[in-house]
Amino acid sequence: MRSDYCGALRADHIDQEVTLCGWVDRRRDHGGVIFIDLRDREGIVQVVFDPDGKDNFALADKVRGEYVLQVTGRVRARDAATVNPNMATGAIEVYGTGLQILNEAETIPFPLDEHSKVGEDVRLKYRYLDLRRSEMQHNLRFRSKVTNAVRNYLDDNGFLDIETPILTRATPEGARDYLVPSRTHDGKFFALPQSPQLFKQLLMVSGFDRYYQIAKCFRDEDLRADRQPEFTQIDIETAFMDQDGIMAVTEGMVRSVFKSAMDVEFGDFPRMSYAEAIAKYGSDKPDLRIPLELVDVKDLMTEVDFKVFSGPAKDPKGRVTALKVPGGNEKLTRKQIDDYTKFVGIYGAKGLAYIKVNDKSDLEEGLQSPIVKFLPTEVRAAILDRLDAQNGDLIFFGADKHRVVTEALGALRCKLGEDLDLYTAEWAPLWVVDFPMFEDDEQGGWAALHHPFTAPNCSPDALEANPGEALSKAYDMVLNGTELGGGSIRIHNQAMQQAVFRLLGIEAEEQREKFGFLLDALKYGAPPHGGLAFGLDRLIMLMTGASSIRDVIAFPKTQTAACVMTDAPGAVDEVQLRDLNIRLRKKEKPAAAE
Ligand code: ASP
Repeated sequence: MRSDYCGALRADHIDQEVTLCGWVDRRRDHGGVIFIDLRDREGIVQVVFDPDGKDNFALADKVRGEYVLQVTGRVRARDAATVNPNMATGAIEVYGTGLQILNEAETIPFPLDEHSKVGEDVRLKYRYLDLRRSEMQHNLRFRSKVTNAVRNYLDDNGFLDIETPILTRATPEGARDYLVPSRTHDGKFFALPQSPQLFKQLLMVSGFDRYYQIAKCFRDEDLRADRQPEFTQIDIETAFMDQDGIMAVTEGMVRSVFKSAMDVEFGDFPRMSYAEAIAKYGSDKPDLRIPLELVDVKDLMTEVDFKVFSGPAKDPKGRVTALKVPGGNEKLTRKQIDDYTKFVGIYGAKGLAYIKVNDKSDLEEGLQSPIVKFLPTEVRAAILDRLDAQNGDLIFFGADKHRVVTEALGALRCKLGEDLDLYTAEWAPLWVVDFPMFEDDEQGGWAALHHPFTAPNCSPDALEANPGEALSKAYDMVLNGTELGGGSIRIHNQAMQQAVFRLLGIEAEEQREKFGFLLDALKYGAPPHGGLAFGLDRLIMLMTGASSIRDVIAFPKTQTAACVMTDAPGAVDEVQLRDLNIRLRKKEKPAAAE
């Protein structure tokens, strides 16, 4: 039906006859000449109808916004005065010689160029219209370009694209499962995969060696701004490759994707241990574009006459740390400091002490702070020395349980970076390695920091003797403070897998019941293997600079995990429930009281 895309026409098409199909972006009547901006996925072109083409002109007079048209015409240069340098097609226009209205459109619920004035719920309800906007068209086309680059790279490197089931058993990744009742197995449920983890490991046992899949994953978790209950991973697994090999091939993938989709070149990614990331940046996904670092001062504070500092300083689980903002004296107002105090409160910090360094040569009068009076002169001197503080600097302090200080000052560091625009680079990728195997589950047990299939860096005996100290063979790729992907070398030996299950409180019977197939597979010649998965949605969000993950997914869910367009999840009728042998229980409490 078309010879060219509207948005693809350029000066070299001048004098060509073209047939275009698209939507009416705008129609203007300029005293006897009708201009129609016709839009398709490639962009917009101006079409002109004048009264010389009688029937067409009369028809053009009838068209309204979002009508679907087929236009035939001749491409011609615009008059110098009407050239629009802001439009890709701005040097030309199409002189219309034929017009067909393929479909009419009622007035749409929101003008596309006024999308920001309507709530996101309206955009999501009429998503098929929202997706007509150039920004959304760009994001989804860009996404396709990236997945194409991913596939090409992985294909060139010998990876096989293999699908794994959606109806399956639970795959623990730390979230709740979405369950699907089985009609043919009364009272039983499938779980939607939180990831293809176990299947990809089994594919390695089968000998496929290098697997990938652009896979949907489902996690029923409390939704934060950048999460979706259903999201896409670039999922990768390899056998007979060590950690360095896997990191090299996947780093190569990210490098090649950035090069081909954005013409951005990365150098080698630095590596940082988890311990260093937490110590210096208060995060296991440090944003290295920001030059600020946390500096621990716990040892300086044990004897000070200020419980807020000395308490955590003496507590083995406490942390006391400082964050210097060079030139912060001038840059930060009292009001901002108060706001930051509230901000760190989100992470459980009870306050935010600070010192302004006015004159570092005068330790009595040169430091301005509500807390400085509690610090002996030699402690003041030691702090300034350790932080290499200069006049004009402002130093924030965090003192509390280790987790609270780390999270609060880690987040403050990023917030300062953003607010004061301290970024020193556009892109800062890195690998974080040497994660602990377990974290305290705060109920007297251990929880896997990654997932239970991650290999430790030690023997099963050493692991069971000292689980809290054990490191894993896990690695995360981080870009600009966002975790792009993560993975690990897996356990490929049954005894080790059982030891890890035991430490996680999964006893023999439950191991058999839930993971018997994996334990069996590990008996029959499982090769050493490992892999990782990248969050595709987040990757696209970073690359496009979109402010929400929903803006890079065609049909996303809302923050309450619903689809307002299809009204899913929906009620099902009694017959369907009866088929499944399910009876709904009455809610015990009214919803409002929850
Ligand atoms: N399955 C892991 C995840 O979804 C990634 C991996 O270990 O490969 O996070």
